[in-house]
Amino acid sequence: MKERHFEQRLPLHQDQIAYFCMEMGLTSDMPTYSGGLGVLAGDTLKSLADLRVPTVGVSLRYASGYFEQHVDENGTQTSSAEEWNPHDFLTSLSHTVTVTLEGRDITVGVWEYSVKGRSGFEVPVYFLDTDLEENDPQDREITNRLYIGDAYHRFKQEAILGIGGVRMLGAIGCRNIDLYHMNEGHSSLLTAEVLKYMYDDTQSMDENLHMLRNKCIFTTHTTVPAAHEKFDRSMVESILGSDYIPEEMYTMSSDDEDRLNMTHLAMNFSRFINGVAKKHREVSLEMFPQYDIEAITNGIHVNTWVGDHMSQLFSHHLPGWDQEPSILRNALRLPRNELWNAHQAEKQKLIDYVRQVDGTELDLDTFTIGFGRRMTLYKRPSFIFDDLERLMKIHNEIGNVQFVFSGKAHPDEDASQKLIEDLYSYMERLGGKIKIVFLEDYSMKIAHYMISGVDLWLNNPQIPKEASGTSGMKAALNGIPSLSTLDGWWLEGCVEEKTGWGIEPQTETEHESLYNKLEYVIIPKYYQHRDEYQEIMRNAIAINGAYFHTDRMVKEYIVRAYFD
Ligand SMILES: *Cc1c(COP(=O)(O)O)cnc(C)c1O
Repeated sequence: MKERHFEQRLPLHQDQIAYFCMEMGLTSDMPTYSGGLGVLAGDTLKSLADLRVPTVGVSLRYASGYFEQHVDENGTQTSSAEEWNPHDFLTSLSHTVTVTLEGRDITVGVWEYSVKGRSGFEVPVYFLDTDLEENDPQDREITNRLYIGDAYHRFKQEAILGIGGVRMLGAIGCRNIDLYHMNEGHSSLLTAEVLKYMYDDTQSMDENLHMLRNKCIFTTHTTVPAAHEKFDRSMVESILGSDYIPEEMYTMSSDDEDRLNMTHLAMNFSRFINGVAKKHREVSLEMFPQYDIEAITNGIHVNTWVGDHMSQLFSHHLPGWDQEPSILRNALRLPRNELWNAHQAEKQKLIDYVRQVDGTELDLDTFTIGFGRRMTLYKRPSFIFDDLERLMKIHNEIGNVQFVFSGKAHPDEDASQKLIEDLYSYMERLGGKIKIVFLEDYSMKIAHYMISGVDLWLNNPQIPKEASGTSGMKAALNGIPSLSTLDGWWLEGCVEEKTGWGIEPQTETEHESLYNKLEYVIIPKYYQHRDEYQEIMRNAIAINGAYFHTDRMVKEYIVRAYFD
């Protein structure tokens, strides 16, 4: 069996991979994620468990989650803490470790989540927690909120994750960690801790750093320069002490202002570095020309993201698809009418959900466009409304459209929050002539309704800022084609007119390209050449669903990154 095959070929028998990430999206209601990075981490661990790869995950347990989003009738976002009971999802373990920050000993506790693979194999995920009675009140707050707080606070969180994480694995008894996989630079302080853990006095620092490098790999997930964090030396030293990070490591990883660059720290001490799509690799090489960077294109966990009706259809016609997602390529054979019926049933579920939470009654037979992701400038959520006249003309003369939007804006970013206000002001200007729904409090659950229930998945990030994007992969699995700028994964997933459409300005602007595709190609197909639309839906499953999944992605990591 394939599963055993990988288990046996891992470097040493009981050796394990430690997968570190600041956020983990494992199940919708456990608010330890903010967006694509966390969901990818969760999907990855699920596939590692499916493939029986001995792995442990490490992250932080955020007592107040990321945030709960409220949006008023003007589109103004307010946020509140996400209250949750960890006992609903996690088991509290008795292990503790100590991390000394600002000269205070902080006790770190741990919770366990067990990811069960399809054959029962378990991958534990450890969530570190400083909210313990014995800690100083300010230290109890360290793991309170995901991505919220100043640089000082963030650096302390990252120290708990990287340093506390390595110590916790030791305390729990995972003594055979063969490889530390850092997802994003947030966890890169683990390099300094691993070095201390394995330091061999009889060898030179260079030799020790070489050994360290053999234990670490790094995946960068963003193209946004600001997301590559830098921390002032004075702050680093006041938190960690002046000799925690060896001078050799610090110098190699600091910038001209002597700030510690977390991405450089990770890259300098990893033997393998990758970006998350082919294009992202190229963009990363431009940003970091001094490193070898490879590409392993992201995927999604199919059993997590398939809709119930689609899943039944697949099981009927493509037996074994859920054990081996590549079988989905035979979706080319799915009877078009059955595919359509399953899709309409998924769409009805979305419509029912929207009615229940928002009160709006969407129409089953109206062409429905979905846009759900973090609300941030480069993703341009209101792009399609920039020419309302053109959109109204398409709606009135070519075929009706309706929209479902959802997404959280970071509470500290005014410009991102304004994007939601922009969407609301367009809704107001349209005065109900086109139905537009904004679903509050985007989550994996809402994403699931949307990526299985709309007719077209819209994605228009500013090129080249989207590292990969994964929501379009989820849509493709459910037979929903994308209309997207050619960035991130879509450069690999778009076969024009076969799996969806690219927004690809040649002589026209990006906006004209978007409207032209909708007016002359996509909407006429949907309403007048339904069979052709269904053909594209089938291709989305057979060509993209069968490939852009974490089963394939994890196998690439195993062969290219995890093996030495
Ligand atoms: C899949 C997913 C994302 C990623 O969306 P992109 O369009 O790839 O940025 C973000 N948030 C949630 C909740 C998701 O499920």
